[in-house]
Amino acid sequence: MRPGAYSEGGFLGQTESLEAVIAKDSQTLRKLSVSRGQIADGLEEVLQCVLDQRRDLLQSDSSEYQQREGECLIPDLYHPQSVPHFTADSLPNTDVGYLVGDKLQVFISQYRGLQECPWGCDYEHWSSFDFLILNRRSGRYVTGPGLIVHLIRKHHFFEGLESPYRVDPTKVVQVLELVPNDLLLSIPDLESRMRPGAYSEGGFLGPSESLEAVLTKDRRTLEEAQVKYDQVADALERVLQSALDQRDELLDQIARTPPKPGKLRTALEIALGSASASHRDSLYSEFEKRDLHMPDLSRPESVPRFSLDNFPGAATGYLVEGTLQVFFAGYRGLQDCPWDCAPIPWACFDFLIVNRRSGESVTGPGLIVHLIREHQFFGGSESPYRVEPLKAIRVLERVIAEDGATSAADACQRLGLGQRGQVFSDGKRGGGL
Ligand SMILES: [Zn+2]
Ligand SMILES: [Zn+2]
Repeated sequence: MRPGAYSEGGFLGQTESLEAVIAKDSQTLRKLSVSRGQIADGLEEVLQCVLDQRRDLLQSDSSEYQQREGECLIPDLYHPQSVPHFTADSLPNTDVGYLVGDKLQVFISQYRGLQECPWGCDYEHWSSFDFLILNRRSGRYVTGPGLIVHLIRKHHFFEGLESPYRVDPTKVVQVLELVPNDLLLSIPDLESRMRPGAYSEGGFLGPSESLEAVLTKDRRTLEEAQVKYDQVADALERVLQSALDQRDELLDQIARTPPKPGKLRTALEIALGSASASHRDSLYSEFEKRDLHMPDLSRPESVPRFSLDNFPGAATGYLVEGTLQVFFAGYRGLQDCPWDCAPIPWACFDFLIVNRRSGESVTGPGLIVHLIREHQFFGGSESPYRVEPLKAIRVLERVIAEDGATSAADACQRLGLGQRGQVFSDGKRGGGL
């Protein structure tokens, strides 16, 4: 991420620490009561609107397109002193750039090539332009690269304080006039939603637990284990996704193989379709076996206990990464996030993951991946839906270790491909070769 490595301008200053930058920005967001998702969504919505206008104009009216793309106003972030300065008293004409809604005016600077994500994601969307978003009402503006939407959402990264490409979260909130999300602050209200019988029958917190105490205790546990929330969330997500894919594949095979099991078949059907029917039956019985041992977390005493002496059968559940065995219990309806986020995928099942090397297992709801990643919440100590962080870390140990190895450290020293800001002989700026 240093200047000259992945990008000419650098994602981080020469001596900045990635972790310190991310921690500082999280603190800023907490103070603003705005989530990373809100910022990424806000930027994405505005930029998408501009890109749509731009594409349509390019096709319909190339002279207006030329005028709106006027050279002098497009931001050259690599040369910060060249970025135009606006105030409420000195605004650009409205016939340049692109207008979004009744107050935003956006300028785009397209460059050749792509700025790759330093984490090495296979991601190329919006990685070849920089932007300047101006709020015409206040005269405030913010600049940044298109890639930032991905960096904020996926890596919680707004770029280093010393990078010319940094997108200052406070500025985004001001320019886009994002409204603070009260729910991020109103802990007392949150607590009552988390009690048994409110948002969920079993409750996310015990009847008298304090949310803050739970959050603090788990934060300390993770710090001592030197594992990050995202590492746990990512590892859980990978394991569950792999098991869900296997389950879908099996269901798909069954759906493609008529007739329905248990359905009375006519003599003719049996005569004509005996082969496929029995194939289907065997698939179905495989599916039923794999869905054994479903954990009913609302009745903890019913959750099967496994150990090194008592493993689940190898033909049950779904095997992931060779050593992890995953079981699902789906339920009707969706479990809402108590923070009132938009409906969350995976909010309709519970899981049980057994580590076949150690015999240890961990249970939890599918929603927990979101709760850990977005709200640093593993569930209250008294909740049957709690995912015990240390247990999860031990069960997922290898997955977490693998994941960590390919993340930040790797991202810092990737090939020196990105040449963000490089100026080509024709005056265009480059963004990777
Ligand atoms: Zn990435
Ligand atoms: Zn949420």
